[in-house]
Amino acid sequence: MKRIAILGSTGSIGRSTLSVAESYPDRFQIVALAAGGNLEAAFEQARRWHPRMLSMAAEPDADVLRKRLKQAGLSEIEVVHSTSGTVRVATHPDADFVVSAIVGVAGLEATYEAVKAGKTVGVANKECLVAAGELITAEARRQGKPLLPIDSEHNAVHQCLRGGRMDEVERIWLTASGGPFLNMPRSEFSSITVEQALNHPTWKMGKRITIDSATLMNKGFEVIEACRLFHLPPAKVEVLVHPQSTIHSMVEFIDGSILAQFSVTDMRLPILYALTYPERIQSDMRFPVGNLRHLDFCPPDMNKFPCLRIAYEAAEAGGAKTVALNAADEAAVAAFLEGSIGFNDIPRIIEDAVSASNTGKLESIAKVLEADAEARRYAQERILEITKRTGRPQVTCVVSG
Ligand code: MG
Repeated sequence: MKRIAILGSTGSIGRSTLSVAESYPDRFQIVALAAGGNLEAAFEQARRWHPRMLSMAAEPDADVLRKRLKQAGLSEIEVVHSTSGTVRVATHPDADFVVSAIVGVAGLEATYEAVKAGKTVGVANKECLVAAGELITAEARRQGKPLLPIDSEHNAVHQCLRGGRMDEVERIWLTASGGPFLNMPRSEFSSITVEQALNHPTWKMGKRITIDSATLMNKGFEVIEACRLFHLPPAKVEVLVHPQSTIHSMVEFIDGSILAQFSVTDMRLPILYALTYPERIQSDMRFPVGNLRHLDFCPPDMNKFPCLRIAYEAAEAGGAKTVALNAADEAAVAAFLEGSIGFNDIPRIIEDAVSASNTGKLESIAKVLEADAEARRYAQERILEITKRTGRPQVTCVVSG
């Protein structure tokens, strides 16, 4: 029986993880959950799963939940809150596997603490690896525990890497659906609406990652995530647009062999893989191979999607550059979702914030969070300038999935 803690239980990956656990009641037990601000969903999860501990993002929500659980006869569930609550869930003594799925840098400290506490961590939160990947992977190595990618591309790479040794890897090919604007002329980008950007062609995901997919920043983050997870330089991680999203990624070996992984586009599969690694177990997620007709591939257009270029540059430069990349993107995407800035402003704000940040090595999570706050302040100033100039609504943005 694997005992699981989920960071981000009410989000898209969190719910998929619970759905996997539901299908294998004799294999997985849910021992601790960290929810965000969705009180109703947190209450329902507490009632269904009876975790030993549940954390809410805000203290008032924790108070309300505690009362409701008491009324429901579930007062044995310990309710905690804030970052310290998330850390307690991540390091819960009864958990041996932690799913890190809080969107954004909010899950950073808890993910690091989970690794430090010797848990096996399934990483769905790519921002953790973008901002603090070197610290997190170094700690996992020290602990002798694997970091198992849940992001579909990296999960695919992880599977393909079982076909050879790391020193036999020529390069990694990360596939990208290209997002909803793959075929839209760049001249029309300035009038892209929030609704258009939220309409992803193949995957149903949280709001931030859907916008990040539309700008290709998500793929930029994934390049950095791959560098960190598999200890490869950015030059060995290539992106390939593949609109069908059938091939989830590939690994090319030095002899010229290329291994690809494909399966249904359902996040429950990478989650199941991570939860059961190094085993594979029976599932009903079948890909109809006989229906496969054609697969299209083309290189990404970095002029049309500057976010991807900026991500490669940040990955090469290192230091606080990738922290700033993530922080500025989080702020810019939130501002776009609120209608404060246009679609084309997103890469502009990010590029400015990345240029303004440093390249020196960040030695601790505290330093990472400092650099994050600084980049966020910088991005907010730029957003404010834009709203003043354009007369769009001014909103102070806090991001959620
Ligand atoms: Mg992905």
